[in-house]
Amino acid sequence: MAARTAITDPYAIYEDPAFDIARKQFAAISQHLNIPADEGDRLLLPKRAITVSVPVHLDDDSTAVFTGYRVQHHLTMGPTKGGTRFAPNLTLGETAALSIWMSWKCALANLPYGGAKGGVCCDPRKLSLRELEGVSRRYMQEMIPFVGPHTDVMGPDMGTGEQVMAWFMDTYSMYVGHSVNAIVTGKPTYLGGSVGRKESTGRGVAFLAERALDVLKIDPTGKTVIVQGFGNVGSIAAASLYYKTQMKITGISDHTCAFYDAKGLPFEKFEKHMESNRDLSNFDGAPRIDPGEMILQPCEVLIPAAVEAVIDGDNAGRLQCRVLAEGANGPTTPAADAILDQRWDEIFVVPDILCNAGGVIVSYFEWVQDLQSLFWNESEVADKLFRILDASFQQVVRRAKAEKISHRLAALAIAVERVRKAKNTRGLFP
Ligand code: NAD
Repeated sequence: MAARTAITDPYAIYEDPAFDIARKQFAAISQHLNIPADEGDRLLLPKRAITVSVPVHLDDDSTAVFTGYRVQHHLTMGPTKGGTRFAPNLTLGETAALSIWMSWKCALANLPYGGAKGGVCCDPRKLSLRELEGVSRRYMQEMIPFVGPHTDVMGPDMGTGEQVMAWFMDTYSMYVGHSVNAIVTGKPTYLGGSVGRKESTGRGVAFLAERALDVLKIDPTGKTVIVQGFGNVGSIAAASLYYKTQMKITGISDHTCAFYDAKGLPFEKFEKHMESNRDLSNFDGAPRIDPGEMILQPCEVLIPAAVEAVIDGDNAGRLQCRVLAEGANGPTTPAADAILDQRWDEIFVVPDILCNAGGVIVSYFEWVQDLQSLFWNESEVADKLFRILDASFQQVVRRAKAEKISHRLAALAIAVERVRKAKNTRGLFP
């Protein structure tokens, strides 16, 4: 019998293109901040990575076993915090990458959290509501030993939303014997959710896109926006820029198709369509375009708000936007970054850990409100959110300018420095 070989590379279990992006970004930041390799491993490798089986009875009386993950990146500054993704191709490595980005995002916004991320490898679009409830409850059940309002707080991400968060909260609460609303964020407001949470990520993206246009001295009125992904983040960012800022939405896509009209798309019709449809596949109120071509069209603001690695070494040189506002997590590969670094005076990048931080910031507000059982109104939430985003934006722009580095490197430098200092001050445990 062949002898077993121990896997000595601690990174091997995370092998995945998204993890590769997170690792390469960290290598760049380590070099910039002169972080020694051993300390770098401690900063980058997740504290815990949990894999569980999620067996569920399906509607046809068969049983399916889905795989669930939760990765908690670090517990140095408080509990971990992060979304839950239900997606058919989710991997442990992708989950780990997303947890690492959450850590940097929380640190940049000065939130008392480490990053986490989790999810189930399933296609929620193919599950009935009852099956989705089965997956959600069983996944949370499996996670109970590892989560808690002071250990790890879950939130929504792609493929999950308020209903899934309510099932998570209910499953956890049944286990402990009383209602624990601080176990998840992104719940309905009548279960302890925060007003403005659902809109927070998209509104934050729109706010920062406007701040970037402001730096470029571009008046946004009547200027153009292309948005990839028309879910929570993309649709709300677009709505904010359309209704509040009076910009023109010229491109919209989802995972099924893309639409483009240089004169402006009929935005209200897209919103109306989504009220009664799951996707845009049978929308026929605007001209279609190849989805890959859509993001290459000229515009003032391009918002990738779907999946990772959509801006790569092949298309980064052909982007024609003035502002790249990264609504999605990890939409830009390191190869694309190298090109965008050369194009810094043409394209203003608002990096993901800054651009989409609105979601975790209001999640933090939700958690604080739940722990205190004292709830704020919408203007208090919005005011506090925009103040934190604006402060982070200014710090990033200032640091990038001072050190002649990209906005992404500047954002990561600020975030990694904060986590590093906390780890070095505390010691090895967390
Ligand atoms: P969602 O499930 O509500 O919407 C995702 C959208 O992207 C859908 O319209 C889907 O059809 C589309 N999509 C999927 N694959 C696509 C592809 N290959 N090309 C074009 N469109 C595609 O998810 P969401 O909550 O809006 O999240 C979108 C992104 O924003 C993710 O990267 C997520 O991690 C990130 N994010 C979300 C939040 C949040 O609060 N929801 C916070 C921070 C970051």
